[in-house]
Amino acid sequence: MTKKGLLLVVSGPSGVGKGTICKEYLSKYDDCALSVSATTRAPREGEVDGVSYFFLSHDEFRKKIDAGGFLEHAVFCDNYYGTPKDAVMEKLDEGKNVILEIEVQGALQVRSHYPEAVFVFVIPPSMEELENRLRGRGTETDDVIAKRLQRAKAEFKYIDKYNYTLTNDTVENAVCVLHSIIEAEKCVMARNYEYLKEEFIK
Ligand code: 5GP
Repeated sequence: MTKKGLLLVVSGPSGVGKGTICKEYLSKYDDCALSVSATTRAPREGEVDGVSYFFLSHDEFRKKIDAGGFLEHAVFCDNYYGTPKDAVMEKLDEGKNVILEIEVQGALQVRSHYPEAVFVFVIPPSMEELENRLRGRGTETDDVIAKRLQRAKAEFKYIDKYNYTLTNDTVENAVCVLHSIIEAEKCVMARNYEYLKEEFIK
């Protein structure tokens, strides 16, 4: 019997640095895989299809929704984003831990289908710092930044739906805390009981 992997959902406002935390985590630890989402937004400079995202047209995305191909999907600032279901489920069944870096609406869908997932909300040290980070990124127009800030304020209203809050003061600290969360969650008895029963109780 293979112990099922842990599904970790990481959300937080645009610009908070959740992508950086996840990437840094994956470069430091090899106990998780990052799910590659699909999106209809245009690739940013340096983004690679199939690595950063699967970049799909609206039609392709809609077809995949209709075929039940997403674990969750949502519209974020005028574009679709979604988690391809099969890849995630296969990894979990193989006992691998999977991180989904997704926005709040998608996280709520995961929560309703997969309540055993662990939900982490990344927060900035302050709202002012969030705005600075979003502007400093230099990848979006003023109009898009304004939309993303507005959306960030809306997303904070859902923090009570998450199990953990993770402050991104420095990436190093945040990665360390994320590691502690994952290690602790791996030891939760309810997650291990079936496996332990098979192995030790019978
Ligand atoms: P970005 O355009 O900055 O790459 O992503 C915008 C937002 O969409 C971020 O909050 C990111 O976490 C979220 N996102 C990325 N992939 C997915 C996904 O598969 N599903 C959902 N619901 N949100 C996603």
